[in-house]
Amino acid sequence: MLSTHNTAPSFFLSLFLFWSIIEPAGANELLIEDVTLISPERNSPLNHAYLRVNDGIITEVSTSKLRPEVIEGKQPSVRVDGRGRYLIPGLIDSHVHLAKVPSMTWRHKQQHPDLERSYLKQQPRSYLYFGYTSLIDLNVFSPEAIETFTAQTLHPEVFTCSKHLDIANGHGMMEEDVKTRLLNNPNFLYDHYQKQHLNGEYDLSQHTAKATVKRIKDDGGVCIKTYYENGYGGSEMVDFDIPSPQIIKDVAVEGKKQGIPTLLHANSWTSQRVALLADVDIIAHGMFHWDEYRHEVEVPAPIRATLKEIASRGMGYQPTLHVLDAQRSMFDANYLNNSSLEKVYPKKLLGWYRSDEGQWFKSRIRKYLPRHLHELDDEAMHEHFSKYYQHNVKVLEVLAEYDANLLFATDTIIGQSYANAPGLSGYIEMQAWNSAGVSLRKILQAATINNAKAFNLEASIGSIEVGKKANLLLLTKNPLKTVEAYNSIEWIFINGQAVARQTLAAD
Ligand SMILES: [Zn+2]
Repeated sequence: MLSTHNTAPSFFLSLFLFWSIIEPAGANELLIEDVTLISPERNSPLNHAYLRVNDGIITEVSTSKLRPEVIEGKQPSVRVDGRGRYLIPGLIDSHVHLAKVPSMTWRHKQQHPDLERSYLKQQPRSYLYFGYTSLIDLNVFSPEAIETFTAQTLHPEVFTCSKHLDIANGHGMMEEDVKTRLLNNPNFLYDHYQKQHLNGEYDLSQHTAKATVKRIKDDGGVCIKTYYENGYGGSEMVDFDIPSPQIIKDVAVEGKKQGIPTLLHANSWTSQRVALLADVDIIAHGMFHWDEYRHEVEVPAPIRATLKEIASRGMGYQPTLHVLDAQRSMFDANYLNNSSLEKVYPKKLLGWYRSDEGQWFKSRIRKYLPRHLHELDDEAMHEHFSKYYQHNVKVLEVLAEYDANLLFATDTIIGQSYANAPGLSGYIEMQAWNSAGVSLRKILQAATINNAKAFNLEASIGSIEVGKKANLLLLTKNPLKTVEAYNSIEWIFINGQAVARQTLAAD
């Protein structure tokens, strides 16, 4: 059961919030005093810790009391009483897509512009509400949407892979018009290993691994997102081109040369073996599809061997249990009764999701499935997705056993389901990892330092160390003791600016 905790803020914190409004963000010195500091690079918590923050950057971590510095022309230091509280780094979700509104098509947005607007305003606050201070958008479908997101007064910082890097006519452009898709994806990759057919004349020297990776980097991308999709575990006809493993390898090699990691969309046993062949840096999904082992319940030896290799190479792995959870939750009659949804979705939008019109996606999902599944009732549909979900859980169990380099990521929003609640989906994902037997220490690492390292961001985020941004969470519960700690956030610090959690709630 999800619940929220509204602990009365301490006197010091109330005072700080007041100052943070009248002073420019980060201009004050901030002291967090006598707190239990839990940072992923430490083997154990630092008890009775003191932290100094200047201009949004952590400048001192100590176990002795720190003296406030008097700086001419500035307000006196702000002091936060951390007694009985836990301080952790802000969380990082390394697989989001910020441009979509859950369960709203283009037509719905035309009909209900107020609902769309209310969502876009709330979205950054909902991520912060659940402690996400950094997000990595794996493909910017719409730079304008990211601009809207970051134009809000309070928002997590956003990094992107720029536009996805897909081969001509690949999975990433299959929904676009065949006549215009290459023009609309000017950075498409040409797979010369399979002598692809292109509609039209193109200067192929502009579509090599080297040229395309460079453009992503020049665009400010911190990563490369590419695809190896071979038909959703055989459930669908493939009407797009599948890249050769060699061209993916070329991209990954080029990414390493230019200093940005390559993520491969790969959600089947076949595609994750391609990820190994191509030696990509990060696998962007769990293994939903076990291909010829689809009827097995436990992870068979050959798949175990693949997972062991992924773990031993230290390849980043995003299990994204949320992907199938978001699909099956559409068929869960209780999902919309979860009271935490009121914290992350505007009230009117939540009301619309409960209406007949708002439930449209359920029938659409059925259409995408093979014909023999069209007549399944809601319960049977839930069951259907649960089967793949369980596969993913079993894979995560094995990866945890092999101590894989797990990266915390939700893929919010995936598809069109309203069960893609920003922020809350991350908390649900954490609970799912916990039930799958991933230790609380590993969950914290995956959502902080592992993500920071995998995306070359560890100089500024991912742990509580001198020189890093003061993106921090103050919790009333210990995240090494209970996963519920991630729903016990009292204060969120963004670049040293304190924000009381309850002020971020949609209700
Ligand atoms: Zn995705």
